[in-house]
Amino acid sequence: MTIAAKFEIEYLQYLDAEGKQIRDDLPAFANDLEHMVGLYKTMLSTRVFDAKSVALQRTGKLGTYASCLGHEAAHVGVGSAMKPEDVLTLSYREYGAQLYRGVQPREVYMYWGGDERGNDYQNEPARHDFAWSVPIATQCLHAAGSALAFKIRKEPRVAVCTVGDGGSSKGDFYGAINIAGAQNLPMVAVIVNNQWAISVPRRIQSGATTLAQKGIAAGLDCIQVDGNDIIAVRKAMGDALDRARKGEGASVVELVTYRLSDHTTADDARRYRGEDEVKDAWSKDPMKRLRNWLTARGAWDDAREEAWKNECDEWMDNEVNAYLETRSQPVTAMFDYIFAEVPADLAKQRDYVLSLEQKGH
Ligand SMILES: [Mg+2]
Repeated sequence: MTIAAKFEIEYLQYLDAEGKQIRDDLPAFANDLEHMVGLYKTMLSTRVFDAKSVALQRTGKLGTYASCLGHEAAHVGVGSAMKPEDVLTLSYREYGAQLYRGVQPREVYMYWGGDERGNDYQNEPARHDFAWSVPIATQCLHAAGSALAFKIRKEPRVAVCTVGDGGSSKGDFYGAINIAGAQNLPMVAVIVNNQWAISVPRRIQSGATTLAQKGIAAGLDCIQVDGNDIIAVRKAMGDALDRARKGEGASVVELVTYRLSDHTTADDARRYRGEDEVKDAWSKDPMKRLRNWLTARGAWDDAREEAWKNECDEWMDNEVNAYLETRSQPVTAMFDYIFAEVPADLAKQRDYVLSLEQKGH
């Protein structure tokens, strides 16, 4: 038998579920404990932010909300590996990456509260990242387009897209990685494999052994990573970004994690998945393993945990107040920014809602 080609997929992990180091070749950044504490603090602020967001939705102050519970290492790992000048195109759950890049919680609240101005992130570097993309996987094409622009302009920047396990089944994902391989684009496609695409489990989502291997057909560098181990995520992302920046090609990085929450606040996951599975996933919680690892090195303790949580609570309270005090846009705004010239039928509707507003409705 003649073999035309052979492939394999590496799996990367440094810390086990309890935070015990299982390899001794730690990447350089992990020996900088101050840096690692900074990553942990962003993970914890993401978790505090997430709990606050769910509470806001449950009390009628947000329309709906997609929780990121359990994805903290995956999302913060992606955000922290990127350079400010890189571009992030994402779906709607990757707040850990966004907070790291300067998105304000009040902007997330505005978005889920129905105010599109939340998409207009005010702080750099998030300011030049893309808006949330609810249509599944279309953001992968935005990343490919951005990466092509960087290549044409000879800018040393990388476009990073994040997509779910379900999103990686879409043609948009395959089209994006195909052009990235064919054109040698500076792009990293991150599959955040959280085991569920709303109610569809990973095992019936794809026949592939790993989701990372989808990139092999496109000629990309591919790796599967323990997405609850931030050291592994940060290392795999750093390597993929370096290669892309040097013109050495695009990558697919699969982060294996678990969605501990419902899909969104409009979902009830108890209807389609068992308690044992969720209990097992909690034992692999990304917060626990990094906290244990830092504590064993004397870099973290309960007092610091409590103090930082209190700071986060105060931060979120300020953000909630800023959100609730934001004045709504005039109702006519929904007509004013779609077409350069408002078509006649919409102009009629615009006049009508304006007349209702003037009557005080
Ligand atoms: Mg998913």
